Amino acid sequence: MIDVFVAGSLHWDVVVDAPRLPRLDETLMGRSVDYRFGGKGGNQAVAAARMGASVAMAGRIGRDAFGQQLRFALAAAGVDHAQVLECDDASGMSVAIVDAAGDYGAVVVSAANTALNPDDIRLPDGLKVMLLQNEVPEAVNLALAKRAGDDTRVLLNAAPARALPAALLARVDVLITNRIEAAALTGADRDALEPEAAAKQLCAMGPQSAIVTLGADGLVCADASGVTTLAACRVDTASSHGAGDMFCGALASELARGASLAKAAEFGNAAAALAVSMDVHARVELTPDAVRRFMA
Ligand code: ADP
Repeated sequence: MIDVFVAGSLHWDVVVDAPRLPRLDETLMGRSVDYRFGGKGGNQAVAAARMGASVAMAGRIGRDAFGQQLRFALAAAGVDHAQVLECDDASGMSVAIVDAAGDYGAVVVSAANTALNPDDIRLPDGLKVMLLQNEVPEAVNLALAKRAGDDTRVLLNAAPARALPAALLARVDVLITNRIEAAALTGADRDALEPEAAAKQLCAMGPQSAIVTLGADGLVCADASGVTTLAACRVDTASSHGAGDMFCGALASELARGASLAKAAEFGNAAAALAVSMDVHARVELTPDAVRRFMA
């Protein structure tokens, strides 16, 4: 029985440490390289599985070594990957160059992810939560949200930001954005965003509720009954990479267990803070019990 279904992106991320960013036509010697499983879809599927949900994912990979690594990582996390299909394009990937100060430049290539086709996707029976993001074609999100049954909560993490059709928003139970996406979607100035007003404005666009995550400032949540704020849990930051993905995955898993949105947001807030306190590769050890102990 699948509780959480993710249709989304899979990227193999190559992260290179260099003394500085290269100039035009220059080749630099880097200091180290790290390979990371990525793509918002994959990250959120893995996060939901680590947080205790039974998860299936639909996606597209290439017939290449990165594709095999992506499938292997999903399997290792216990995500059902039967609907992750190979296609003729290359696997999605990104390459980031990080300089000595921690500033970076990156290029993401969607490649195979653009081939995801809703007509090929079979939704599991009895699905509790559908989790969508904006790294696959909008037609996928629209078709799947329309097919979701009354008992399925539809969560849309509108990342990266793009204009969202009213027909999609009308089918969304929880719209999740970070500060930058909230500014883009509401037309606000990124540096002058008022989170509570933005969450209200996003909610008025059609979803049942809207959450704006605010990094170390926690989050705000708006629904028909009003706006609530939640402070972040205090942790020492090891890496804030993927905080939003951990939040979305944990939120989905807790909703699938029957929690209210407020309780699930608290759980996601704690899980994301714990993730931020850990190195990216150490997060394989995160469990729902560890999150509950942290919350206690
Ligand atoms: P994204 O990674 O999508 O940009 P955010 O940076 O808003 O998302 O982070 C998502 C959530 O992760 C926050 O709402 C919060 O719960 C948690 N979080 C992020 N950064 C921190 C931090 N420094 N301390 C504690 N929690 C954090």
